[in-house]
Amino acid sequence: MTSLPFPVERYREDFPILAQQIHGHPLAYLDTGASAQKPRAVIEAMTRFMENDYANIHRGVHELSQRATDKYEAVRSVVQNFIKAEHDDEIVFTHGATDAINLVAQTWGRTFLKAGDEIVITALEHHANIVPWQMLREAFGIDLRVVPITPEGEVRVEDVKAALSPKTKLVAFAHVSNVLGTVLPAKEIVALAHEAGALALVDGCQSISHMPVDVRDMDADFFVFSGHKLYGPTGIGVLYGKREILSRMPPWQGGGDMIASVTFAETTYKEPPHRFEAGTPPITEVIGLGAAIDYVSAIGMNNIAQHEKDILAYATEKLSRVDGMRIVGQAKNKSGIISFIMEQAHPHDIGTILDRHGVAIRAGHHCAQPLMEHLGLVATARASFGLYTSREDIDALVAAVEKVEEIFG
Ligand code: PMP
Repeated sequence: MTSLPFPVERYREDFPILAQQIHGHPLAYLDTGASAQKPRAVIEAMTRFMENDYANIHRGVHELSQRATDKYEAVRSVVQNFIKAEHDDEIVFTHGATDAINLVAQTWGRTFLKAGDEIVITALEHHANIVPWQMLREAFGIDLRVVPITPEGEVRVEDVKAALSPKTKLVAFAHVSNVLGTVLPAKEIVALAHEAGALALVDGCQSISHMPVDVRDMDADFFVFSGHKLYGPTGIGVLYGKREILSRMPPWQGGGDMIASVTFAETTYKEPPHRFEAGTPPITEVIGLGAAIDYVSAIGMNNIAQHEKDILAYATEKLSRVDGMRIVGQAKNKSGIISFIMEQAHPHDIGTILDRHGVAIRAGHHCAQPLMEHLGLVATARASFGLYTSREDIDALVAAVEKVEEIFG
């Protein structure tokens, strides 16, 4: 079966921000890994909602509140279908992936872990999937075990196996590395965790917008992601948790909307997911997230994945030819992220020079300082791709990187 070419130019028109010039050059936005730009469909859905249907949810008897509640709750099923969860009550709205991981640490972790229990993570985790577990370590004396990575930046299943023990209670890992682009064998790692009697938490921040995700096939117990990396707004994220696990977790934050009844003597809580959504949630942002999922679903996650694979191959080939260039992260299965360093210049200098040419990349430790230390680096420059990334963007990147070579080489 031959597939039709991906009409990237047509999709780019959906993103108003991309049409501008930066320092006299067309913008080449290659920082989607940090945050994705927003299509008009998302911007307009949020505006339309605020212009027509906005009110606080769950509490009002009036028409607007009921309409807002229905629209907010409808997005739960949109997310459920998008990640192929079994039930819509397995979808908890959070403020982002960081918030979601902290929720698991502070409710599941504080309830079910005791001194000596082990949590297994990998050497390539984002700080969001390290620090919440360290906080538990400080509070309860649990141990944190770290699965090493290969020089190519891969996580080998046998190394995960070696890190597991009867004390392992959770294996928490990134589906895709935000620095190296490595796609981890999530299904196999989850299966190993289960064999060891542990749960598995998958950090889907860097996979959710780049490939189809099926939490049931993966059999993840928890799966988290942020809306802003999925072409949606900031301030909204998702915690997926299996129904039977969420139902045994106590609430984290207390307040309005998460209670069944309150007296000064005693409070009872709602069932999940509302038990975990204390206070007024980011209502408009949930609407925006729903619109973002509708938008990428209409394009097709498989089509997006294929397009980004083509862009990754094109960019890898072109960048590899630049003098002094070293691509950091050579995993066989990679998503649309290229970290690189150059002999001639510090990543921050590269980032600044590229910006002068309209090319937006990220330079730094990418909130993965332990990984940087593991790699013996202080920073990398990182180009990351999205559905709107074109070959012209890559050509602009390569031309600007060649300028770095000319200036510092
Ligand atoms: N995990 C990974 C792999 C990420 O890339 C990020 C964002 N860079 C996060 C977690 C945290 O996401 P947020 O800041 O949106 O909570």
